[in-house]
Amino acid sequence: MTLVLSCGNVIFVPGSQHYSLPKGAAILGIGADNMKSIPLDIYGRMDSDKLEAAIDAAIDANQPIVAVVAVIGSTEEGTVDPLEKILELRDQKYRSKDIEFAVHVDAAWGGYFASLLRDASSDGARQRFSTPAPVLPMSTYVTTQYENLGRADTITVDPHKTGYLPYPAGALCYRNIAMRSLIAFEAPYINSDPSEKEELILGT
Ligand SMILES: *Cc1c(COP(=O)(O)O)cnc(C)c1O
Repeated sequence: MTLVLSCGNVIFVPGSQHYSLPKGAAILGIGADNMKSIPLDIYGRMDSDKLEAAIDAAIDANQPIVAVVAVIGSTEEGTVDPLEKILELRDQKYRSKDIEFAVHVDAAWGGYFASLLRDASSDGARQRFSTPAPVLPMSTYVTTQYENLGRADTITVDPHKTGYLPYPAGALCYRNIAMRSLIAFEAPYINSDPSEKEELILGT
């Protein structure tokens, strides 16, 4: 039997990453250096060809891929990464080879612009550009990336950014609540009422 030693977990992020991403990798013990920065294209978006090459290289080196992060609205430029393409790579090319990784969206800054896709009168229905239409509507490319937000595994949204709430306010949204359970620690003295809906327990 051959024992294959892995060379360490990797997380792929765009070159436009917010400093809090390597900070998170350092705190998690993954190591800031194991967060690999993917170069941007001429539009300031993560270059999906370079991402694909980096994922292939990690697979060849037996490095487990923890996650690929797409930034939906970079803090400095408002650039939007190709989320649809990243999901397509994962769900089609890699899943068929039994390679799985999480797709995280950093929408800390840009998350609130998803509201531009919804009609104010239709309670969350996916209709583009409510009435009255925004003066500067999002481009077709940007709209498509926002329409794919619901397919991501996790999304961060900061109400203290474009939600204009006082600092600090942050949200981490999970597509599958079981993912949160993997990292949950419970304080025994807060909200221990078993009849409480699990996702509403703030002490977790
Ligand atoms: C602000 C921001 C974050 C997180 O910053 P906090 O202020 O620590 O919540 C992450 N990513 C982007 C793109 C941001 O703009």
